[in-house]
Amino acid sequence: MFVYDFSQGNKDMRDLLGGKGANLAEMTNLGLPVPPGFTITTKACQVYLATGEEPPGLREEVTEHLRRVEQARGRRLGDPDDPLLVSVRSGAKFSMPGMMDTVLNIGLTDASVHGLARQAGDERFAWDSYRRLIQMYGKTVMGVDGARFDEALEDAKRRHGAEHDVDLDAAALRDLVASYKRILREETGQEFPQDPRTQLDAAIRAVFESWNAPRAVIYRRQEGISDDLGTAVNVVAMVFGNLGPDSGTGVAFTRDPATGARGVYGDYLPNAQGEDVVAGIRNTVPLSELARLDKRSYDELLDIMARLEAHYADLCDIEFTIERGKLWLLQTRVGKRTAAAAFRIAVQLVDEGLIDEEEALRRVDGWQLAQLMFPRFDENARRQAIAKGMNASPGAAVGRAVFDSATAVEWARRGENVILVRRETTPDDLDGMIAARGILTCRGGKTSHAAVVARGMGKTCVCGAEALDIDVSARTLTGPGGVVVREGDVLSIDGSTGEVFLGQIPVVDSPVVQYFEGTLDPASGDDLVRAVDRLMKVADARRRLGVRANADTPADAERARAMGATGIGLCRTEHMFLGERRRHVERLILAESDTEREAALEALLPAQRRDFIEILAAMDGLPVTVRLLDPPLHEFLPDLTDLAVRVAEARARGEEAAEDARLLSAVRRLHEQNPMLGLRGVRLGLVVPGLYAMQVRAIAEAAAQRIAEGGEPKVEIMIPLVGSVEELERAREEATAVVAEVAARAGVDLAIPIGTMIELPRAALTAARIARSADFFSFGTNDLTQTVWGFSRDDVEAAFFPAYLDMGIFAVSPFETLDVEGVGRLIRLACEEGRAVRPDLKLGVCGEHGGDPESVRFFHQVGLDYVSCSPFRVPIARLEAGRAAV
Ligand code: PEP
Ligand code: MG
Repeated sequence: MFVYDFSQGNKDMRDLLGGKGANLAEMTNLGLPVPPGFTITTKACQVYLATGEEPPGLREEVTEHLRRVEQARGRRLGDPDDPLLVSVRSGAKFSMPGMMDTVLNIGLTDASVHGLARQAGDERFAWDSYRRLIQMYGKTVMGVDGARFDEALEDAKRRHGAEHDVDLDAAALRDLVASYKRILREETGQEFPQDPRTQLDAAIRAVFESWNAPRAVIYRRQEGISDDLGTAVNVVAMVFGNLGPDSGTGVAFTRDPATGARGVYGDYLPNAQGEDVVAGIRNTVPLSELARLDKRSYDELLDIMARLEAHYADLCDIEFTIERGKLWLLQTRVGKRTAAAAFRIAVQLVDEGLIDEEEALRRVDGWQLAQLMFPRFDENARRQAIAKGMNASPGAAVGRAVFDSATAVEWARRGENVILVRRETTPDDLDGMIAARGILTCRGGKTSHAAVVARGMGKTCVCGAEALDIDVSARTLTGPGGVVVREGDVLSIDGSTGEVFLGQIPVVDSPVVQYFEGTLDPASGDDLVRAVDRLMKVADARRRLGVRANADTPADAERARAMGATGIGLCRTEHMFLGERRRHVERLILAESDTEREAALEALLPAQRRDFIEILAAMDGLPVTVRLLDPPLHEFLPDLTDLAVRVAEARARGEEAAEDARLLSAVRRLHEQNPMLGLRGVRLGLVVPGLYAMQVRAIAEAAAQRIAEGGEPKVEIMIPLVGSVEELERAREEATAVVAEVAARAGVDLAIPIGTMIELPRAALTAARIARSADFFSFGTNDLTQTVWGFSRDDVEAAFFPAYLDMGIFAVSPFETLDVEGVGRLIRLACEEGRAVRPDLKLGVCGEHGGDPESVRFFHQVGLDYVSCSPFRVPIARLEAGRAAV
């Protein structure tokens, strides 16, 4: 079965019927006024895309369902006397606004246009509908460049002295139909088909094919939607919003999708067809205006909105048409919303008794929380807005103005921040919107293409800034009072207020960050801060995963603690070898005798100890995992070329430069072709005598001192880059001896767990053996990703990942979101085999993935005890850990 009548589906059938089809079915079954129609399944589309042909039987099924629609409307498709017209609309499982095709008014022909005119009592309307059909059909089905039709339309307006489309009369539109047909003939050598069923079948095929339109492919990549899903096709009896002043079309939201504020919200366009609103081509009036224009329809709409919201228990957005005073619903879905709206609405719905707290937690995510933590413009900065548009998608974006998508992409590629400025955007602007920091349009409302797409991407957008006049060919934007913005000038746009500023406005922390840092009491914050606070409490109560932070300094440790970290999962000791201390590292490397080397290590010891004391104090009572030195020693030495030049110059001056010359030969000796795979981590610890022992001593002595000061240090020692258990055993033996010696000397009991990072495939594969010598495992997913894929983590992201992302080989970099299939499989294996040997083995992760929302879910499922991430991402990991548990 490839075709479902609206009465046969429901909202849970999105896989098969697409989002639009499933919700049209749901509304039909709720008894709401939906025009009759049917949905061709995504399965049919998949078959068509795979074979190039409609699946067997589809034609007959369409005939059968079309007959039912004809009966329901009492008209036949394209009947010359009283034609039924249908729309053919795409509708995938996930909403892809404007990315695929739609053809309206199918069934109009040279004969039926007269029937429509008679039935509607409106010649002009009939010819306008016919020219729209030819235009859409010509573009979508016959592949003619849309600009040709636009030119013909502009030409007609000029000849008839018409300012707007609506000013063209019936005769002018009839002429336009003739021009459009001529364009089709010239461009394709074919006539516009006069058989309604031929039109219908071709439109269905075109919608199937639009799944693979370039803009749809780009959008799916951006949104991480699979290419295999295909789109459903909805065939719906046409209703008309362009039948006069008692008709119209609009979109409505049951709450404000930008702020989450309660109340009815939307745009209405009298005497127009649906596409006019979404395309942002004409300016709309607020929905409340409908109450004045048509009170009965307005009341009915409000009533339906309340029912839909209660039924879906969520913010719904609705497309509707009023045909001569009769309200019809053309679509509803759970509406997209900004991050702030998502948090506010989730909490409101709990308060209204529509959902419980766990469901509220599922309704928000870590990406949204990350957005709320972005800085915003400083209210106190001196600033003067040059214009104010609509606050379509929040954030504070600063960048250079560009006026077309190609320039946006080009400039962004060379590292510029850009603001894409357009009169209005179309789906063809998608590339530019992705590349830009923010989007500014002069036309269109909060439901225009720019607004909808920007919100979906989480990108700052101000739309409908009508005071600004854009001249695309001159590449200028002119504001009130003659302000001129040229391409390349810096603009700041505020997506939360809709303001547009000339120049760069300084940004400040968001209140949500102030709340996390403990400097803003939620009770005195706004309702957004209170909503975040409430959902964080739910997440913390439900989560099983601990959340620690990666922090190497006392300041970072304190920040992490404020953000809710319950320990440090990775304290990298590298920075403790930089700055002033480099001198000692150089001495260590250049040492020609044990005594020289020991002296260098001796000099490093007090500095290291001090670092650890401060960090343990900042994290008193909480676990702190200190990782022994990992990077190769040459990283602490001067650059080979710089040093060689220095030595050569000194010699040219006749100086001996003995110290530099020794250093140079050491740098040459330590030089590696592949340092990432070279002498680093535990290898360094085993090959440079005394290095790890010194670090362990500093750690143990710091712990002993903290105990003496009355503190509660909970330090753990972590050995990096272990590939075989023998490496770990040797390092561990040495460390254990040093800890015991320090403990004995200080007269304290030092229980310091010693564990290892699992960051090489061999370590994961031999986890069962390694676990015998490790008190804990911490997955170093940065190196593990590097070594599982064979990707140099320092090179590939700039070198060829952009091409791989373009080609769709990845949806996202595996260094950002864990590759569950490959790297994840090794993690799972190491967890299972490690725990089989040692059931109390503590498991954590400290690679970048520990703060990535999607990866956190996997770490929960695989049974880790904690994730560790940068302090700023701690709240995100807490939220996602909670979501993973409900
Ligand atoms: C890792 O490899 O994931 C890790 C945390 O260590 P580093 O990034 O310091 O190599
Ligand atoms: Mg590593």
